[in-house]
Amino acid sequence: MLWLKEGDKIRCELCARRCLIPEGKEGFCKVRINKNNTLYTKNYGKIVSMDIDPIEKKPLFHFYPGSQTLSISSIGCNFKCQFCINWEISQTDKITGKTYSPEDIVKIANDKGIKIIAYTYTEPTISFEFAYRVSRIAKRYNIKNVFVTNGYITSGAIKKIAKYLDAVTVDFKASGNPEFYKKYMAVPDVRPIFDALKSFNKHRVFIEISNLIVPGIGDKPEDNHKLAEWIIENLDSSVPYHLLGFTPCYHMTNVPPTSLEILEDFVTDALDVGLRYSYVGNIWGSRFENTYCYNCGQSVIERTGIFVNAINLEGNRCPNCGFAINVVRD
Ligand code: SF4
Repeated sequence: MLWLKEGDKIRCELCARRCLIPEGKEGFCKVRINKNNTLYTKNYGKIVSMDIDPIEKKPLFHFYPGSQTLSISSIGCNFKCQFCINWEISQTDKITGKTYSPEDIVKIANDKGIKIIAYTYTEPTISFEFAYRVSRIAKRYNIKNVFVTNGYITSGAIKKIAKYLDAVTVDFKASGNPEFYKKYMAVPDVRPIFDALKSFNKHRVFIEISNLIVPGIGDKPEDNHKLAEWIIENLDSSVPYHLLGFTPCYHMTNVPPTSLEILEDFVTDALDVGLRYSYVGNIWGSRFENTYCYNCGQSVIERTGIFVNAINLEGNRCPNCGFAINVVRD
């Protein structure tokens, strides 16, 4: 899906890299290959990890809170993050995994009574064709589909999948700082991520945003401030926003974990800017794990880490003052 012939090469239109791929060669992701002037994907249906996770792990805090997801992934990514926690499956050239059909995945979710399939762990854009087919079938069974994505996806790809895609978490690092993306992630331009967010919003896909704060090299308060302002100006002040702690990993074991203090400072600033729901993630035990009513401050969803302890809502309204919270529930 999503490619064009351009002279004797192929232009891939799936992710924002828009690779121009000569005959016999692969794109940057090493998953899509030009064979005889046709673009093929090498990881179709090859599932390398499958698990049942709370939706809060994605993180999605406002989309069916307390639900389980069937979480799946295939090999591949269009980024090269030096600190990837899933680098064994995102950064390898070797396509492995057990082969499933789209119907198999939906059947597994359905048999287990799971109502949400999450395309996660690696970049779901790079498994687009399979995700597209699974999500189309899942819809028929009233199963929701969510992408946990870096947001480096074209508007054409979003348009194609939007009617089957219910929610996304778009995952920023270092608050989207362009130099950080170039230096530590091999991403030349961050603007397509912001375009993708606008496009998801236009297509009414439910959005949450996360932001990984990397101590010393990706923790500028002004970048976090700018990102929070951008969300309010271009999306909505009720978009949930997660500040995530960094874990030393892969090629960046020399960088320490993020302190709770920094994350709480960044959450506080996002709330001061005007974002209504901002959270600490990857470090448990913060007061910013709970959802508070924006109007009266009542605690409406209580969590410990990725586990929901209590939901105190009437539908999606605060039981104290009746204010509508941006939460999707049955
Ligand atoms: S998905 Fe992205 S990285 Fe892979 S070939 Fe297409 S444009 Fe290149």
